[in-house]
Amino acid sequence: MAGLFGLGGRKKRDDSGRVVSITREARDGILSFCKMKHPNEGILVLKGRARRGDVAVDGLVIPPFSETGPTFAGFPHSFLPLDMSYVGIVHSHPSGSARPSLTDLNNFFGLISLIVKAPYGEGDIYAWNSGGDRIRLVVADG
Ligand SMILES: [Zn+2]
Repeated sequence: MAGLFGLGGRKKRDDSGRVVSITREARDGILSFCKMKHPNEGILVLKGRARRGDVAVDGLVIPPFSETGPTFAGFPHSFLPLDMSYVGIVHSHPSGSARPSLTDLNNFFGLISLIVKAPYGEGDIYAWNSGGDRIRLVVADG
C-alpha cells in the first residue's frame, strides 16, 4: 500500500473516516468476558455488518477450540464455519496495552480487530485495521 499516492511521508492508507460501531449489549458482553478470562487473554468472534468501510458489530461468538494464556489468544480459523457476518475478532490484553502486537497483525481475521486492555472499562476498547492503524469506535444506542 505504501506509495499509493506517490507522496513521501503520506499515510499509507486513510482510515480516519472509517467508523466501527458496536451495540451497548455487545460491548458489555465483551467487557465481562475479558474480566472473566483475566489474567489470561480472552478472544471472541465479532458478528455484524459492513458497509462501505464502516463496520457495525451487534453480536459475539465464542470461537471453537480457542486457546488462551497470559500473552496469547488464538483459534484455528479453519474450524470457523464460513459466515459472511463475521466481521473480525476481539481479544484482551491483560498487560494493559491496547496496541496490536506483530502476532495480532499477522493473524488478522476479518475486517477489523478490537483490543480490550485491562482493567476492561468502557473506555478500554480500541479498534484497529489490518495495517495496525486505529479506527474510531462508537457505541450505538438501541
Ligand atoms: Zn494481542
